[in-house]
Amino acid sequence: MVDLKGQYAKIQEEIDAAVLNCIRSAAFINGPEVKNFSAALASYLQVKHVIPCANGTDALQIAMMALDLQPGDEVIVPAFTYVATAEVLGLLGLVPVMVDVDPHTFNITAALIEPAIGPKTKAIVPVHLFGQCTDMEAIMELATKHNLFVIEDTAQAIGATYTTADGRQLKAGTIGHIGCTSFFPSKNLGCYGDGGAIYTNDDTLGHKLSMLANHGQVQKYIHKYIGVNSRLDSIQAAILGVKLPHLEAYSASRGAAADYYDAALKNVDGVRIPVRSAQSTHVFHQYTLIVENGKRDALKKHLEAQGVPAMIYYPIPLNEQEAFSKIGKIAGSLDTTRALCQSVLSLPMHTELEAQEQDFIIGHIIDFLKNS
Ligand SMILES: *Cc1c(COP(=O)(O)O)cnc(C)c1O
Repeated sequence: MVDLKGQYAKIQEEIDAAVLNCIRSAAFINGPEVKNFSAALASYLQVKHVIPCANGTDALQIAMMALDLQPGDEVIVPAFTYVATAEVLGLLGLVPVMVDVDPHTFNITAALIEPAIGPKTKAIVPVHLFGQCTDMEAIMELATKHNLFVIEDTAQAIGATYTTADGRQLKAGTIGHIGCTSFFPSKNLGCYGDGGAIYTNDDTLGHKLSMLANHGQVQKYIHKYIGVNSRLDSIQAAILGVKLPHLEAYSASRGAAADYYDAALKNVDGVRIPVRSAQSTHVFHQYTLIVENGKRDALKKHLEAQGVPAMIYYPIPLNEQEAFSKIGKIAGSLDTTRALCQSVLSLPMHTELEAQEQDFIIGHIIDFLKNS
């Protein structure tokens, strides 16, 4: 599905030098690499504050901790997402309210969120699934109307650009009150271990988020909040500092690979190519097909038999997970989510994908659909 070795080979000298430099300096925790990378990322995203942390799940948890929510408060999340989005709510005694997603973009929309808003609703977590932004302007309007926080889960969409109705271009994660991302190795900007970051343009939230990530500490041994210990270590920051300048090129490579799949599969009966949002660029964390007529699992098996990995993101909706059976709430029908879990299939997608490899994958998809 990904080719992390191939990507490393192209920047090996720079990465090795940065890592070695970090080891030689022995500043493993909060070394200069961490500050430098955070500043570079803030500048790339055009956001005021970037708070680095240990992983994307921590980023979401710390974001939720910064909002002064009370146990029992409700937070709206998509039912079709990775577990981390809602898991952190359970840890904090908050109630995930799961709503359905749009059948074309796989993202939640203002229209799907609004009926789920009740007196206990305090926040919305739009997930920019597979690499394109949800319709953030409509969601922000709704949030303003109902006095809600918006925490963007942009673990899959770093670098995606959202264009507002008046033509402003904003990066994913910088539109809501807080944005959360992950640098897990296979994410679009991946480090060589775990990492994450939280963004905000709000000075008060920025200050609080950085305290919460550091034991709730105002200054050494003065603790204002119950916080957590969640750090991006210096070696990971050094690696990310080398990779960030390549992110636009990485997004372009993914986009080119997606265009290539699109062109070959758009007129093939039995599969539907990803639908692109009008407001957002797509950075293709995943290239996800809908396989019609109940043939998804058979196609996946067929591809695997040919040595082509294909993955199901996600096979089970959040509301059907045992972990959420006691704490979650369902709002409205989750018909689209259920249908997607039965029909989505993600193809290999990464920065090193070559036309020849894609031809092989595409050929086997077309073969299977013709003969099944
Ligand atoms: C990867 C991911 C996370 C969690 O990131 P980790 O760094 O693995 O903790 C959260 N939300 C979404 C949508 C993700 O894809």
